[in-house]
Amino acid sequence: MSNFPDPTTSTLPQSAPVSAFSGALAIAPGRVVRGSGILAGAGSALEKFGSRPIVVGGERAIAAAQASLDTALTGFTATTASTAPDCSESVLARLNQVAATHQADFVIGLGGGKALDTAKLLAHQRQLPVVTVPTAGATCAAWTALSNVYSDNGAFLYDVPLDQCPDLLILDYNLVATAPNRMLAAGIGDALAKWYEASISSGTSQDTLIVSAVQQARVLRDLLLQYSITALDEPGGEAWQQMVDASVLMAGVIGGVGGAQCRTVAAHAVHNGLTQLPASHGTLHGEKVAYGILVQLRLEEMVQGSQLAATARQQLLEFYRAIHLPTTLADMGMGAITLEDLDAAATFACHKRSDIHHLPFPVSPSVVMGAMVSTNAPTRVSPPSLESAHPVQPYDADGDRHSEEITL
Ligand SMILES: [Zn+2]
Repeated sequence: MSNFPDPTTSTLPQSAPVSAFSGALAIAPGRVVRGSGILAGAGSALEKFGSRPIVVGGERAIAAAQASLDTALTGFTATTASTAPDCSESVLARLNQVAATHQADFVIGLGGGKALDTAKLLAHQRQLPVVTVPTAGATCAAWTALSNVYSDNGAFLYDVPLDQCPDLLILDYNLVATAPNRMLAAGIGDALAKWYEASISSGTSQDTLIVSAVQQARVLRDLLLQYSITALDEPGGEAWQQMVDASVLMAGVIGGVGGAQCRTVAAHAVHNGLTQLPASHGTLHGEKVAYGILVQLRLEEMVQGSQLAATARQQLLEFYRAIHLPTTLADMGMGAITLEDLDAAATFACHKRSDIHHLPFPVSPSVVMGAMVSTNAPTRVSPPSLESAHPVQPYDADGDRHSEEITL
């Protein structure tokens, strides 16, 4: 795709080039604090980072947090700026100006994934500490050392690995509870992808930490399948809080422990392709990724004849319907997509540096298009079971009772 920028020539500062530190790990935030209503009391935790924060976030997030934030920042000299419309180069340029004028000495990011990605990248560019305050359970962006950069119109451009995870993560469940249920459902979809992608990209790794990350991704999947429906039925309840931890924290742990080698595969590549289409912009990151998992499983079925993938897809279709995640293009409001647009999304998903090529077989845009339009196709396999789509030997050989006990 001609509009895919070369990160090596991008105007945005990139992370340090490969060096003696190329194996460096960015596993976790410096500190994670969590609880209900804790933001208002965070002043002393924030003091160590400076006295002149720039607070960046989405308008809804800042409005939801304003009262708590005002209390927490008593005695600070803060300025506030919006991250709208996206984590884009033009927004980052504007925020750099605001930060410079304010002489900001640390960054506070408030919001969902895009706002937090913006805050992290702003801090990275200015070499400032960053505090992340998620206001939705929609992604693990509050945790990770990675920012995705989009165009002002919301088309994915590239990601930027950061030197480290945020200095402080404040998870205030009262704030997260202000977000609609749909946001947490999207976070569940994004977190589910950890297993379906990591088991493909890293399932045969002998590296201790990567083996650990892949196994944690399976446990995360099991927890999500077990508790998500209850969580979404009872916002603010115990299961809900556990699923917020799963989406915001544990998904981040897996990304941190797995590191750069524990890569995304087709689910996120399909997401990236879909973002090239304005018609997809009404859906959330995690919703597109959830749909992308189905596309990935469909590819494994179509190209490899994988029965396990077929079984897993049927299982997920049932689960998605229960928690209102999209199962088809039509569910995302793209039922009338043109062949040209479908081709554009699939072609972007297959660009030469795309993570889709971590699949163990070659794919072309036409095959991806076929998978994208058949995510809810029936299969001839036996009724859905809870068998793993990607068993990782030898761990399954001992009998993975935890997986077997899961009920939807
Ligand atoms: Zn994601």
